[in-house]
Amino acid sequence: MPKYSLNSQDRLNTCHPLLQELFWEIIKDHDCAIFEGHRARRRQNQLFKQGKSKLKWPDSTHNEMPSMGIDAGPWLKGKGIPWNEPNEFYKFATVVMEKAKALGIKIRWGGDWDMDGDVNDQWFNDLAHYELLSTDREA
Ligand SMILES: [Zn+2]
Repeated sequence: MPKYSLNSQDRLNTCHPLLQELFWEIIKDHDCAIFEGHRARRRQNQLFKQGKSKLKWPDSTHNEMPSMGIDAGPWLKGKGIPWNEPNEFYKFATVVMEKAKALGIKIRWGGDWDMDGDVNDQWFNDLAHYELLSTDREA
């Protein structure tokens, strides 16, 4: 059975309980890693300078406490995180979105910001990014 590394667990612990619940469900049958949970001011502004985030602190969902944003991706056997294989991130996103729906957890994925199901109309791809849209569970 897949397991999170301690680093992944620490990052997951900084996220909203609904995100934690979702990603604990996902790891049961999909090996994955958590890259980012909460980000403090310094790190957020560093990522902004590097062009890795479009937002300055405190405007990112990662700056809230607990974090409303989470960055996660697949972990492949013998390979690790497939950074150069976007298709693996698209596949993983399908798993995440389906699981979220099943749990009634409302999230948005950085591969479909406007949530229209079209991944080709993006102004900025952030394929590892998911954010919680509501702290209430949907019925
Ligand atoms: Zn993110």
